[in-house]
Amino acid sequence: MERDFTYRVYRDLLTAAQDHGYEILSVREYLTREELPERLLVMRHDVDRKVENALDMAEIEASLGATASYYFRAIDKTFEPELFRAVAALGHEVGYHYEDLDTADGDLATARRSFERNLDRFREHVPVDTVSMHGNPLTPHDNRDVVESLDLAEYDLAGEVYLSFDFSEVVYFSDTNRTWYEEKTIVNDWPVGPSEKPTQVESTAELVDLLETGSIPRLYLLVHPNRWADSTAEWALEYSKDVVTNGGKWGLWVVRSLRGDDQSGDSVV
Ligand SMILES: [Zn+2]
Repeated sequence: MERDFTYRVYRDLLTAAQDHGYEILSVREYLTREELPERLLVMRHDVDRKVENALDMAEIEASLGATASYYFRAIDKTFEPELFRAVAALGHEVGYHYEDLDTADGDLATARRSFERNLDRFREHVPVDTVSMHGNPLTPHDNRDVVESLDLAEYDLAGEVYLSFDFSEVVYFSDTNRTWYEEKTIVNDWPVGPSEKPTQVESTAELVDLLETGSIPRLYLLVHPNRWADSTAEWALEYSKDVVTNGGKWGLWVVRSLRGDDQSGDSVV
């Protein structure tokens, strides 16, 4: 069976959507277009780490004429102005993946100042029209509280990825935990409970099947580029598994290195 959550599978997903009449849109386009197509797929990417994967995905999408939104955290490892410009130049939206209530340790006034400052830092390089909440299961705060306390129009923002959506209009699917299946989770990023979803899928192949039926005309996908691998990494992972099977410690080390991003625990959404 083909490995899921690879670039190849991602490309197949986009192609299947387009072949069945779904237009792939950014968050900004969804929120600001006067008329929306009958079938659409809002594509949102939260970039928590591994910025190079974001550029890979942005290129895959651009090659297919699809538009998506990329939200970058303001931390050192993801605040890469050159990359923001490269992603925007491919026709995508770049936004701020905010976590100011966490960094302000829950102090709302400090968090608002930090949000404003970070928004300005992004806007020195690219236009920013929408923002996306970063969820951290290790803190008790809900970062959305900051944006909820603001008048978005005052900040020239067209919307926020949860607060500005009616999730009865678009059906939400997220690749958190490398499955599309939504379970009750400690991560506070699900807009509706699993029981309220009209349908669930587990693998990307099942999501493709769903698109082929056309039964859900409007979807909203949250895709974390760092959770998807290109074919070289895929090969390395397969290879290291063989080494582990043979009892090599080196292989275990490779597996840990390749999967390290999932075990750091600093953020999962
Ligand atoms: Zn995040």
